[in-house]
Amino acid sequence: MKRIDPHTHSTVSDGTQTPAELMESAAQAGLDIIGLTDHDTTAGWDEAAHAVASTGVKLLRGMEVTCRHHDTSVHLLSYLHDPADDTLVAICARTMESRATRAQKMVENLSADYPITWEQVQQYAPKDGPIGRPHIADALVAVGAFTNRNECFIRALHPSGPYYVPHWSPDPVEATRVIRAAGGVPVIAHPRARGRNNRVLELEIIEAMIDAGLAGIECDHRDHSVEDSDAMKHLAQTYNLIVTGSSDYHGTGKPNRLGENLTDPHEFARIVEQGKLEVIRP
Ligand code: AMP
Ligand code: ZN
Ligand code: FE
Ligand code: FE
Repeated sequence: MKRIDPHTHSTVSDGTQTPAELMESAAQAGLDIIGLTDHDTTAGWDEAAHAVASTGVKLLRGMEVTCRHHDTSVHLLSYLHDPADDTLVAICARTMESRATRAQKMVENLSADYPITWEQVQQYAPKDGPIGRPHIADALVAVGAFTNRNECFIRALHPSGPYYVPHWSPDPVEATRVIRAAGGVPVIAHPRARGRNNRVLELEIIEAMIDAGLAGIECDHRDHSVEDSDAMKHLAQTYNLIVTGSSDYHGTGKPNRLGENLTDPHEFARIVEQGKLEVIRP
């Protein structure tokens, strides 16, 4: 049975390993295929692709598009899309700019109570990449305010906390259409994970995304209970959607370990069939 983990992050967004290091770790974890899905960017694809030959790990090129519907955060994986698609590139660029402005505002808010500066936080963020709360967390840890990213999220970076500022995000239904038009395969990430204000994504939104061309649902994920996973598999079956499972690995930034959840090879084949690009093989 092939070991396929289709959702991971590198230093190109908020993971802690470079794409090349991630490929090495994937080989050590005994993965046959890894999906690199950094937040709102495909900047890590080339480096990861170069490591396919040396590691023997096949590469599924992807991206996790940050979306929002009113107050609910929605993460939408896009697989094998054209990375030069104008509309998708424009969405990512707008998100990137808004992330920078937003991070600056959050740092300003936090600096009233914690000894951190914008210059310092930028050291932890990818250059010209999608800066996010994990990078602010790294700065808070560096000054000794908290011990790890998770503690920062619970105590200082949570959306219901006093320092939080949202950034612009596309609507998930619109993003689903855009990904399809770019030749991509849209798979909703961890739909039952507790998002902003601890609210779960309403079924109504998922159904609207299905109408817009959603291809699959990430069912097996550490933020899902067994009941969540079963409910999402049932929904996927009802609409004949692809079922995936993944680690959502972030290196040392999260406890998630490579390969802790996997995707069935038959389901993986359905992603490949629908994508514009190929899987990169040694
Ligand atoms: P942002 O995109 O800036 O709103 O930050 C969200 C990102 O933070 C997500 O991509 C998660 O990977 C990460 N994240 C969320 N909660 C935690 C946590 N408790 N510990 C570490 N990382 C987290
Ligand atoms: Zn992340
Ligand atoms: Fe996510
Ligand atoms: Fe993720």
